Amino acid sequence: MAAAKIIDGRAVAQQVLAEVEDGVSRLRQAGVVPRLATVLVGEDPASRAYVGNKRRTCEQVGIESVHHQLPASTTTEVLLELVRELNEDRAVHGILVQLPLPGRMDTQAVIEAIDPAKDVDGFHPVNLGRLVAGLETFASCTPAGIVELIHRSGFETRGRHVVIVGRSNIVGKPLMNLLVQKSPAGDATVTLCHSATREVAEHTRRADILVAAVGRPGLIRAEMVRPGAVVIDVGINRVEDPDAPRGYRLVGDVDFEAVRERAGAITPVPGGVGPMTVAMLMVNTLKAARRAAGL
Ligand code: NDP
Repeated sequence: MAAAKIIDGRAVAQQVLAEVEDGVSRLRQAGVVPRLATVLVGEDPASRAYVGNKRRTCEQVGIESVHHQLPASTTTEVLLELVRELNEDRAVHGILVQLPLPGRMDTQAVIEAIDPAKDVDGFHPVNLGRLVAGLETFASCTPAGIVELIHRSGFETRGRHVVIVGRSNIVGKPLMNLLVQKSPAGDATVTLCHSATREVAEHTRRADILVAAVGRPGLIRAEMVRPGAVVIDVGINRVEDPDAPRGYRLVGDVDFEAVRERAGAITPVPGGVGPMTVAMLMVNTLKAARRAAGL
């Protein structure tokens, strides 16, 4: 069997970003400057890199970003106060609090404090609930990016069996809910696997589209994949590599080299789902600004 098509998430993300840039420029002509507030607590290098990337992408598409850097010692109360101020600030359309927060902080309280109309990450229970109900919402960026990537790469979800491994609130569960919606972007039959699932491979082998979102390198081996399946690798894992400039490299949850010989199409890590996540944050911020302007 020929090696799988490599799904280029960077290229698809650039298409989405070009559309966002166009929408931003039209909004600016109408006198509205879309603005995203980013909040980072502490100095975790990976989180700093993610926020830096999001802010650079804002600049690329013409969205203003205003960064709030707080020390690692910040209390939940202080962060909640900042969130309340940002909720009140009419010039701010989207609020992104970079997760994870330091372990002693009350992450759920912070998520629930964000005005659902500015919740561009789509983590607020109101937005999650609207997603489940199939109502207009901010879909969380990674699941929305996965759906967009599948469709823009020429694959359908209608009538397909999608198997998702991983049931987190930020990836697996919202993705399942997007895919089961009665809509052209959904209409899939979905199986959701997690750590209590027996014989995960029996499920994954039946997938037309397999999504791995666990955080374990090499979890999905070739024999777990149906020949010709579309494989979406969400995992981002650091593995030691003395030959890499930083002493590590990033890999997904899928044994890429082996699975690409069997799959029909596969996303690489990096360069697959990651760029789509950032692109969808821009889509959501533009949407928040449009809505705030009553457009
Ligand atoms: P979580 O740790 O929150 O969730 C992991 C899920 O995997 C849980 O549902 C867990 O089950 C399940 N799981 C663990 N072990 C197994 C197993 N052996 N078999 C089946 N299921 C298992 O992770 P996240 O969802 O936050 O992230 C998952 C990965 O995706 C990480 O590598 C993360 O870095 C990456 N990620 C990438 C993004 C991107 O933009 N590309 C964005 C977000 C995340 P249980 O619920 O039972 O514990």
